[in-house]
Amino acid sequence: MTQTYDLVVESGTVTTASASWKADIAVLDGKIAAIGGPFPAAHRRIDARGMHVVPGFWHVHCHFREPGHTYKEDFGTGTRAAAAGGVTFCIDMTNNDPHPTTLETFEMKKALVAPKAHVDYALYGGGLYPRTVEALAKAGAIGIKVFNTRHIKEVYPYISELGVLDHGILYELYEATRDVGLGAAVHHDDPEWVKRLTFRDYIDKGRTDFAAYLDSRRNGYMYGHGMVAGLAASLYYARICGVRLHVLHCGLMPVGAFEMIRHAKFDLGQAVTAELDFASMLNTPEQEAKVGPRTCFTHVDPEASWAAIRDGIADVLVLEHAPHTAEEVDPGWQDMFSVPLGGTGVQEFVPMLLNAVNQGRLTLNDAVRLCSETPAKIFGLHPRKGSLEVGADADLTIVDLDREVVFKHSDMLSKTGYTVWEGMKAKGAPVCTIVRGATVMREGKVVGEPGYGRFTPGIAATPPSSTTPAVSA
Ligand SMILES: [Zn+2]
Repeated sequence: MTQTYDLVVESGTVTTASASWKADIAVLDGKIAAIGGPFPAAHRRIDARGMHVVPGFWHVHCHFREPGHTYKEDFGTGTRAAAAGGVTFCIDMTNNDPHPTTLETFEMKKALVAPKAHVDYALYGGGLYPRTVEALAKAGAIGIKVFNTRHIKEVYPYISELGVLDHGILYELYEATRDVGLGAAVHHDDPEWVKRLTFRDYIDKGRTDFAAYLDSRRNGYMYGHGMVAGLAASLYYARICGVRLHVLHCGLMPVGAFEMIRHAKFDLGQAVTAELDFASMLNTPEQEAKVGPRTCFTHVDPEASWAAIRDGIADVLVLEHAPHTAEEVDPGWQDMFSVPLGGTGVQEFVPMLLNAVNQGRLTLNDAVRLCSETPAKIFGLHPRKGSLEVGADADLTIVDLDREVVFKHSDMLSKTGYTVWEGMKAKGAPVCTIVRGATVMREGKVVGEPGYGRFTPGIAATPPSSTTPAVSA
C-alpha cells in the first residue's frame, strides 16, 4: 500500500552540509519520512523546482527583548521576522528584565514567550549565580550565557548587574555549567581597560560623536582589545575547568581573537567553538557612515573573518539581532558612547547568506554547515534538528538563489521598523519556511500562527513526563 504523506516537497535540489542532489522530501507527522521519490500520495505538495531545499537555518543570537523591553521587540515580532527571513530555529539571549538567571524568572520567561513563537526556539539561561545553573539546566536552558562585560556608561547590557566581571564568579559559573553538561556562551571583555582609555582619549576630550566612536573602534577601544584580553583569561579558565566555551562576537573583536581560538582548538584540543558575526564582514566604511548609530557591529577585518571560516576557526555564522528603537539610537550621531548598541539581523540574515553564496564566498553546503548543522551539534540537538535525515524534524528552508531582494524599512517585521541594511541588494532569498512540516512562511508572507513555535530544551533538561510530547531524539 502506498503511504500517504502529509507533505511532499518535490523537484528541488536537496542540500546538506556535504552534498546536493535532486530529490523529493516526504513529511509525515512533522518529521522527514523519506527522501528520494517520487512520492505520489500526499495531502499537500510544494513545488520546489529550480530551488534548493536545506535543513532549516538557525539564528543563534537573537535578542527578542522579552520580558522587560518589549517596546523594542517581543517574541512574537522577533520570531515573525525570523520566519519571514527563512529561519526555522532561534536562540534567545538573556539581557531581559527580569533576567532569566533563576528558576523562577526562567520559567516566567518560558511561559511568557510560548504563546507568541512562530518558529522553534531555545532559551539561554542567564549566567549570574553559580548556584542556580543546575536548576536552569533542568528547566531546559540550551546553554548558559554570560555577559563578562559592562558598557563604559552602563547602557549595555542594560541591566548592569548581569555583567560578571569577577573571574572567581565566572569560574564558578564554568564549573556549574560543566557539571550539568552544557556549554557557556560568553561575551568577553575587560571593561575597566575599555572605560579608562575611552574616557581618557574620547569622552573627557568631548569627542563623543559617531565619528569618534568609529575612531575608538579603529583604535581597538570600544569592544576592541578588551574583548580579546577578556577572551584570553576566559579560554584559560575554561580549559582548566573543562567547560565547553562558545565564544560570541568573533569578527567584531580584533583579529588576535582568532589566533587565540586557533591555538585553543587546534594546538590544545580545547572544547571551544566560535560564533562569527556576519555584520563584521558585510559592513563597509561607506555603509557605516550612512547607517550611523543604528548599528554598532562595525567591520574590523572582513578578510580575516572569511579566513576564519575557511580555516575552521569559526564554527557558526550569525547576523546578530539586537534591536533598539530609532529614538533610542539616533542621538548616537552626537553621543555614541551613551546610546544602546545593537542592530537588526534576523530577517536579513538568510538573504545575506545566499548573496555570499552567489558571490562565491561560500558554497550553499558551507552555509548549511555554518547555520544549521553545526549549531544543532553545538547545542546538542543534532540530528533531530539541523539535518535532513529520515526521522529528523521536518524543518526546511526552501531558497531561490536567483531571486533578488532589496532591503527596505517598510518590509521589516521587527518592531524597530527599520533595517540597518536599507537599500542593500542581495541575490538569493528564502521562499518558504517549514517548521516540523508546517509552512510558516510562503513567498515572504508569514502564514503560521503565533504559539506554533515550540520551546526546545537543552540536553540537561529533566526528561518530560509521559503526558507531554516527546522532546528529545
Ligand atoms: Zn548579543
